Amino acid sequence: MEVSVAQKSILERLRKQTTEAIAEYDMLKPNDKVMVCVSGGKDSAVMLVLLEEIRKRAPFPFTLHPVLLDQKQPGFSVDAFREWVKTQGYDLTVVEEDTYSIVLEKTEVGKSYCGLCSRLRRGILYNYAEKMGYQKIALGHHRDDLNTTLLMNLFFNGRTASMPPKLKSNDGRNIVIRPLAFLDEDDVRVASEELKVPIIPCSLCGSNGNMQRARVKKLLKTLELEFPHVGSSVLNAQKNVRASQLLDKNLWAFDKLEDLNFSETSEDSFQMP
Ligand code: SF4
Repeated sequence: MEVSVAQKSILERLRKQTTEAIAEYDMLKPNDKVMVCVSGGKDSAVMLVLLEEIRKRAPFPFTLHPVLLDQKQPGFSVDAFREWVKTQGYDLTVVEEDTYSIVLEKTEVGKSYCGLCSRLRRGILYNYAEKMGYQKIALGHHRDDLNTTLLMNLFFNGRTASMPPKLKSNDGRNIVIRPLAFLDEDDVRVASEELKVPIIPCSLCGSNGNMQRARVKKLLKTLELEFPHVGSSVLNAQKNVRASQLLDKNLWAFDKLEDLNFSETSEDSFQMP
């Protein structure tokens, strides 16, 4: 597909940030077969384009395999999106599983469908990746997703955790990567508009979504309007954890401090043996 100068500049910037994240977290290895999970949304569509640009320039070979899960929400149509994927040089694989009926049946009235919907989607895609022999599963979560998850865990779950850029699934079968981990959602939105992605709305399911997540995301966005560096600061904080300045006894041996010699090192950089 022909790209304009404006498209080129934003895509180049996002490609560089994505390349940095891939390199920093060792996301790809030679000859990896990468399942690129596309949902029909802006984030994963932009991820496909960026990964293809990176693949063309990469010092080692790897392949990309865009896969979309049709969960049978009413009115879900993949045709326009499939055509767009074709313009990017790829054939889209559509896996069909009716999780929509399960979610309707199992979710209490008035509750959000999203938790169960996401768990079912994850299980189906992980199984498919294993069946097809894909070494990596690429998900389109960006910096705002990571930051929102961190704050959600702080505010509502009592733990300090986010979405890691590279993760082995609990059962050890799959490696998940998040190549967009450093990207600002607003930039991704602009890129998807430039690329004219025919978005399939997530709201077809009729769920209200996760209200707490929406609230926390709005809080972050409001802060960023006043302090534009909040997003990158919250991301950097996740790379820069000071165990000695938190309260986790599993990370820092508070009971052994009397026996340790701090004279050779500062409290900030000291690593507990
Ligand atoms: S909005 Fe609908 S399709 Fe999207 S995760 Fe929630 S339940 Fe699933």
